[in-house]
Amino acid sequence: MDWKKIRTTFDLEQLYPHHILEKFHDTSKGIWSNVPDENWYDWKWQLKNRVEDIETLKKIINMTKEEEVNFEKCSAKFKMSITPYYASLIDSTDSNCPVRMQSVPYSEEMNILDTDMEDPLAEERDMPVQGLTHRYPDRVLFYASNDCPTLCRHCTRKRKVANPSAESQKKQIEDALDYIRQTKTVRDVIVSGGDPLCLSNQKLDYILGEIRTIKHVEVLRLGTRNPCTLPMRMRDDELLSILEKHQPIHLNTHYNHPKECTREALLATTRLSMAGCTVGNQTVLLKGINDSPEIMTELCHKLLLMKVRPYYIFQCDLSEGIGHFRTKVSKGVEIIEKMRGWTSGLAIPHFVVDAPGGGGKIPLGPNYVVGHKDNKLTLRNYEHKEYDYYEPEED
Ligand code: SF4
Repeated sequence: MDWKKIRTTFDLEQLYPHHILEKFHDTSKGIWSNVPDENWYDWKWQLKNRVEDIETLKKIINMTKEEEVNFEKCSAKFKMSITPYYASLIDSTDSNCPVRMQSVPYSEEMNILDTDMEDPLAEERDMPVQGLTHRYPDRVLFYASNDCPTLCRHCTRKRKVANPSAESQKKQIEDALDYIRQTKTVRDVIVSGGDPLCLSNQKLDYILGEIRTIKHVEVLRLGTRNPCTLPMRMRDDELLSILEKHQPIHLNTHYNHPKECTREALLATTRLSMAGCTVGNQTVLLKGINDSPEIMTELCHKLLLMKVRPYYIFQCDLSEGIGHFRTKVSKGVEIIEKMRGWTSGLAIPHFVVDAPGGGGKIPLGPNYVVGHKDNKLTLRNYEHKEYDYYEPEED
């Protein structure tokens, strides 16, 4: 079926059985109940009407006086910006609501630990030109935008995101494109930011089109949280046509909690896959939000129903002011241990630590090799039962 025929959440009934659809909750407009649908489902209206001040925020959530004072201090350091759609998912009375914790400033952000870093992944160090990180031999990270629909409190790139002085200027984009043209080893380009789907359709089309003319580039990836925090972006037919035009595109998005998997989000990821994109998900392991095997399993199961492949769980980076979100590394290993074998491999992401200082992603997981003698390998399965495997004597 053509994605142009799937325009609203009602149209999903043509694609999915009722028992699947009912796993995805419909959303209300919250305090925006008087806003007409033509505005609410318009991504530009959503961007223009982001929640950025405390007066609007207080209409959405209950805040104590202390929280109000802390809000002013934290938002001065890293501003708040929440799309009305994402704000409408917040439980107004629950200060531990996972959507609230990801989007509303908390006083803990002011605690900068000695081990925190402004740029923990050394992305600026590995920039041959401004706006492009080249670390691995065959792939580059292209920062096409500094804006995001909702500013995540756990963002690892707080130093750049929402910083107008670091805006991705035309020259920066041209320099990055030139670098890719001249560097023949680059086979894979990740267009990210910020969020590249915050760019105008025209600008995005230009960037993707230019990259597609470079013969040595094979893989084109997009990193975007729009499907989670502004899914109505995917109601834009012009955007979908652009993505269809520049295939193959692998799009990686960022859902952290099952509460974010709404009917509108399902529409967004369905349309993306119908337009030819593969869609993967990169979750950040966040204390108090998704640091349990049950929540992570529920999230990954929902993602599969949305045709989104769980790709990574990232250990929370050592960025400044996000220490309160960090868990022990062993928590991520425990989550994988409790998923492997108990659910299908398709639902299990890789757990990785992005090595501080720019060492790249290091995968971690439970140890399944419990003995090795001569050519006998003793392995244990998910139920801790042991099995011997006999390797060839020689390679
Ligand atoms: S969408 Fe990504 S880049 Fe943007 S604020 Fe959130 S974590 Fe940071």
